[in-house]
Amino acid sequence: MEKPEKLHAVLLSSPGMGHLIPIVELGRRLVADHGFEATVFVLPSSQASHAEAKIIDSAMIPKLLHVVELPAPDLSAAGLSPYATVFTRLVVMMREARPAFRSALAAMESRPDVLIVDLFGTEHLCIGDELGVPKYVYVPSNAWFLASFLYTPTLDKEVKGEYVDRTEAFEIPGCKPVRPEDVVDQMLDRSNQQYREYVRLAGEIPMGDGILLNVWEDLQAETLAALRNEEFLGRFAKGPVYTVGPLIRPVRPSGLGKELLEWLDKQPSESVMLVSFGSGGTLSAEQLVELAWGLELSQQRFIWILRKPTVKSLDDGSFFDAGKAGGGNDELSSFLPDGFTVRTRDVGLVLPSWGPQAEILSHPCVGGFLSHCGWNSTLESILNGVPMIAWPLYAEQRLNATLLAEEVGAAIRPKELPSKEVAGREEIAKLVRTMMVEEGGQAIRARVKELQRSAEEAVAEGGTSYESLRKMKEDCKKRIHQIMKAH
Ligand code: UDP
Repeated sequence: MEKPEKLHAVLLSSPGMGHLIPIVELGRRLVADHGFEATVFVLPSSQASHAEAKIIDSAMIPKLLHVVELPAPDLSAAGLSPYATVFTRLVVMMREARPAFRSALAAMESRPDVLIVDLFGTEHLCIGDELGVPKYVYVPSNAWFLASFLYTPTLDKEVKGEYVDRTEAFEIPGCKPVRPEDVVDQMLDRSNQQYREYVRLAGEIPMGDGILLNVWEDLQAETLAALRNEEFLGRFAKGPVYTVGPLIRPVRPSGLGKELLEWLDKQPSESVMLVSFGSGGTLSAEQLVELAWGLELSQQRFIWILRKPTVKSLDDGSFFDAGKAGGGNDELSSFLPDGFTVRTRDVGLVLPSWGPQAEILSHPCVGGFLSHCGWNSTLESILNGVPMIAWPLYAEQRLNATLLAEEVGAAIRPKELPSKEVAGREEIAKLVRTMMVEEGGQAIRARVKELQRSAEEAVAEGGTSYESLRKMKEDCKKRIHQIMKAH
């Protein structure tokens, strides 16, 4: 049998903007740069939100990149506890979507040649075997996260008691150790279902033919070397690790609405701090007030994508509402200090619930980003040369914040975080001023500009990430031959 001319890649995204955005972008790169045909299957996070629909619409490349929404799975028989975490709900949704995914694949006119699932969808790798095609796992995060993730089944066997109760950092072979306070949310309580699911996913990743990672070689050279070295983490990763990033949506300020663009155009270059906590991040009411005061006291310009506060223990409280209206201006203002919007009206803008974050970051007036350190937000910041104040909230964000502040040099962070204490207004004001007007901030800005250049080079034709995706295509063709021969 002849190998197909144009390979058809089928990609499967788990719910949530943080997964949808990079997997759609991967599909687009496979098509635009490497001559694939691609179909991206998407599981809506709940009811389709306007923001999700916009990403899906903007991604379509007629005839070459299709985006197909799978029906939301019926979770009634899944035995999901009413207290299940966002993560547990996501992986269970992925599991329950298997019948719909299988039927959708069977109904496709163009047969898939390769399957790429995002990291919450490893239970779909067996579908690659059923179809007789190579299968890959796409990790929309960084190498240190991947390293610690792959090592979790080993820690699970070796460590007794709760990880957070340890005083010493966890050694990850060949990598920077992970401090107990930085472990991902899924590892905070070993009796919780999400912990078991997390360990299972980590153990399933090596079932794929390789891993695609949303970073570039120069960003994390040492950690990547450890991931490829059999003596360190190579024995857990098994297949090759392809660095394909940074993959973020290509956007321009011109894509912004008229009013917002006019406001941004009036601000001096690199003078505005963007404040945004990703698709699901929410602060406690007390923290929200301190942040408002901190911004005001800093006397710096800002744009704040503001969400309703949530109870303190639920930092991803908005996850399943991402991109939807979450309270109008009046309701949101009631959570801010009295008179805040009036006093800051000449320097600040508050956007309710959801805003065009990537487009705002691409505007030249933005000079700082107070961010929850989700990996997409981080990449959007770096690719626009914008330094960060790291304010991690949930998932793997504490790990990302430590990476950015201590290794990559792209961020500073409040000293109270990641503990659950409230960061006070004076400290916040100081951090904002440091970032926007003081020397310490200038050094980080210069470093981020360097990173921006190296990221741009990596994804350009001939760059390391471009070549890595080309290599993945070659390996994929070889694997197709092997599979065909074996049958
Ligand atoms: N985002 C956005 N508007 C918002 C909040 C988030 O467009 O108001 C986008 C943001 O630009 C990023 C994604 O949603 O591309 C969030 O992904 P990330 O990995 O940063 O964090 P997560 O939401 O997964 O925690």
